[in-house]
Amino acid sequence: MGFALITGGSRGIGRAIAIKLAKHGHHILINYRSNEASALEAKQLVEEAGGQATLMQFDVSDKEKVREVLDNWQKESEDHYLEILVNNAGVRKDNILAFMTDEQWDSVLDIHLGGFYVVTKAVMNKMIRKKYGRIINIVSLSGIKGMAGQANYAAAKAGVIAATKSLAQEISRKNITVNCVAPGFIKTEMIDDIDEDQWKAFIPMKRFGRAEEVAAVVEFLSTKDASYITGEVISVNGGLYT
Ligand code: NAP
Repeated sequence: MGFALITGGSRGIGRAIAIKLAKHGHHILINYRSNEASALEAKQLVEEAGGQATLMQFDVSDKEKVREVLDNWQKESEDHYLEILVNNAGVRKDNILAFMTDEQWDSVLDIHLGGFYVVTKAVMNKMIRKKYGRIINIVSLSGIKGMAGQANYAAAKAGVIAATKSLAQEISRKNITVNCVAPGFIKTEMIDDIDEDQWKAFIPMKRFGRAEEVAAVVEFLSTKDASYITGEVISVNGGLYT
């Protein structure tokens, strides 16, 4: 059985990804930061879909903790390795740059870009040894076109896109693909404060997307069939381009 780690797999887009990947027979490691009740719910949904899941608590921006938890998992599961990694955990702390606090800037960079760095590094060496892996990073339309009030978030996501393209060139020959999926507006708790009625006029499909519609692309990229796609950014945004 293959193992897949989904950071922020407990809610929203990550949870939808967990359920889809479980259907392929992968054992899902559901990472979350603090909301254990949601993580337990996600585990139950994965099991109801016929899969297996284990909860893995850590804050992706806490480098020491990430290394400790993933090293321990690897020691206890010596015969296994994580063949799929989905870097999905994320938060928004929007503010126009003129008013942005150091905390808003630093924490968003630490979670998205720092999280990508530390989790990927902890997982990829065994992929390299096994000569197979799928790394999928959830970025955002903001990281492609920028968005007023999101200089921190857009910079972090653009950083992940650039790191994806670089890493893809470093490890493609080991049969490891590294790609990004860039959602537009997707109905999850993250954008609870954004009014769909007000924003849908700008979206060619005239609606926000569903987490499952993002998960479907991640699902494809996670398969053996997606073997010649790497360093790519695939948008899932209802036609809302730049
Ligand atoms: P969400 O519903 O708010 O869920 C966020 C998930 O990330 C939760 O599982 C949360 O766990 C986890 N998380 C947050 N900070 C974490 C940390 N420091 N360490 C570990 N886990 C952490 O968000 P979502 O909408 O599904 O977003 C998922 C990804 O899609 C994010 O990277 C986001 O930037 C991206 N995205 C979303 C949209 C959108 O419109 N929704 C658009 C573009 C991109 P806890 O509950 O324990 O905190």
